[in-house]
Amino acid sequence: MKPNILVTGGAGYIGSVTVERLLEAGYGVVILDDLSKGHKSAIPDGCRFVEGNIGDTKLVEEALRKNSIDSVIHFAAMSLVGESMERSGDYYSNNVVAGIRLLEAMDATGVRKIVFSSSAGVYGEPETIPISETNRTEPVNVYGDTKLIFERVLSWQSERTALGHISLRYFNAAGASERYGEDHRPESHLIPIALQAAAGKRPELTVFGGDYETPDGTCIRDYIDVRDLADAHIAALAALDAGRSGVYNLGNGEGWSVLNVIEFAEEVTGLTIPRKMGARRAGDPARLVASSSLAESELGWTPRHPELRDMIEAAWKWLKNYPDGYPD
Ligand code: UDP
Repeated sequence: MKPNILVTGGAGYIGSVTVERLLEAGYGVVILDDLSKGHKSAIPDGCRFVEGNIGDTKLVEEALRKNSIDSVIHFAAMSLVGESMERSGDYYSNNVVAGIRLLEAMDATGVRKIVFSSSAGVYGEPETIPISETNRTEPVNVYGDTKLIFERVLSWQSERTALGHISLRYFNAAGASERYGEDHRPESHLIPIALQAAAGKRPELTVFGGDYETPDGTCIRDYIDVRDLADAHIAALAALDAGRSGVYNLGNGEGWSVLNVIEFAEEVTGLTIPRKMGARRAGDPARLVASSSLAESELGWTPRHPELRDMIEAAWKWLKNYPDGYPD
């Protein structure tokens, strides 16, 4: 019998696919989600659901105690680069301050292991590509800054409380499982927007900047299948059990430009994606491509779905099954 895991933000995009994998792997799962971004129908059968915020110490302590929680996987956060530049205060209070309340509740109940959903955004404009964990961390947007601060909080907390902590720095999550996919409202991510434009659900896609120093002038990102991200969380739980703490990149090591993504999406759908060139979006680095060799060697993790086409195909299949997203 595998132990019980508290998954904060388990009703969100990466959270729901990870919960699905945890259940398949035999873990007991309790989801804590305030449904500010998550969806009730993204919560699988077979897990417990506590509706609430990670900053509600009393509620979190009760959920940890009552369910004999062994470890926490912490997804719940605000996660939009553009929005973080407009609403910095909300980002620091949700992603940092409320996160600290979660750690206090863990400390009070003796829960000593956490997997934290961090981001490639901690690097800012990287000095070298591919980016390894030892690259300079100098975020160029508030979202990335909140993730870096919380990684540091974890590190300092562990000095005092022997907290085992693994921070997973995701590059660009993409794709879907059969049942769980990407449904942000409003949507701001490239792949779902491209597919919605292909399906005629939005008039066009705006390419945010064509004057970057990249071969086609558009930003380059490293897209990683959400199912592979889910696997990495299971690997991280095992590593925590083996006494490991650390910071790991999760990407494919390959970069695709915004125009590459649009081309693939047109090929997968067989449809034309209306687009226009727009201004740069604040806070966007030109190029983010990961080296994930540390996760491969220390967590024993390798992506099983490294092809961008497969990710877009999975996302397209999900969109066809859920044309209006989740029902709630
Ligand atoms: N992007 C774009 N048009 C859109 C949405 C995104 O050109 O409507 C670009 C964005 O500027 C970035 C890349 O696509 O270079 C990926 O953006 P996304 O928001 O999907 O993920 P992020 O990199 O912000 O985590």
